[in-house]
Amino acid sequence: MVDQYAVIGNPVAHSKSPMIHEAFARQTRQDMTYERVLAPLDGFADTIRDLIAKGYKGVNVTVPFKFEAFALCDFHTEQAKSAGAVNTISFTANGIYGNNTDGDGLIRDITRNLDTAISGKRVLLLGAGGAAEGVFQPLLAECPGLLVVANRTLQKAENVVSKSHHESRQAKATTFEGLKNQQFDIVINATSTGLTDTALPVPDTVFAEGCLAYDMMYGRETPFMKQARNHGAQVVDGLGMLVEQAAEAFAYWRGIRPETQPVIAMVRAL
Ligand code: NDP
Repeated sequence: MVDQYAVIGNPVAHSKSPMIHEAFARQTRQDMTYERVLAPLDGFADTIRDLIAKGYKGVNVTVPFKFEAFALCDFHTEQAKSAGAVNTISFTANGIYGNNTDGDGLIRDITRNLDTAISGKRVLLLGAGGAAEGVFQPLLAECPGLLVVANRTLQKAENVVSKSHHESRQAKATTFEGLKNQQFDIVINATSTGLTDTALPVPDTVFAEGCLAYDMMYGRETPFMKQARNHGAQVVDGLGMLVEQAAEAFAYWRGIRPETQPVIAMVRAL
């Protein structure tokens, strides 16, 4: 039987993960399938049980199920533990293993693909959901000069910052209003507002000269990207992160790391 994988989310129709994993499988000659699975908002655990019963080997988890995925796993990698959120699951005879590859994916895209150092920079992370949890510790590990997490619900931003493993003097939580009079060298949108074309109440002044504005959303120009572009930032979408985090997930499942550059170029060209 061919090894079966899937991405589970709600919504999930926009996901490019199947095309990316199919390209990785062709490149590395792995015999596997990968599809999209839409889980009801109140039916994530049932959907997972169904996939296990059907013999699936693993899944990627996307919005809004990464915390539920963490709770469902029997074992967690260090990356998953520090994020408290899971985006990659492996089903084994011993139990359900959870990993989080979002952080590695973002850091690789910014530092290698975009050739932008994070060390010493003033970094703003917008959002405090599963994606933000996944990238917070890896961002701190790059030693930014300052890392501010801003979220609509302040409590969630405070939770993210309070879990810091590193010297946390440079990490702070705030609301969007609290960003007045602050400037950043790298601004990362990890909210889900790109999915609904909703503008964020972020002051135009957050984009310092030469700022990199990174939206984790991909495949469309979001209101955040428009705002950043209008205020002189270099604007990048989350396609590179998507492919890099997928490569980490693929390596976790299959034990072989695919080349990402040709796959980023292929998806970008579509
Ligand atoms: P979650 O549902 O876990 O979190 C959503 C976040 O968005 C929360 O911080 C929430 O704030 C905020 N938010 C939602 N609506 C609004 C709004 N109207 N105004 C202000 N803030 C809002 O989602 P994820 O963290 O899993 O995913 C976030 C985004 O990142 C998605 O678009 C996803 O597709 C993308 N992503 C991309 C990846 C890539 O590889 N490129 C990888 C991972 C994610 P509050 O806490 O106040 O509700």
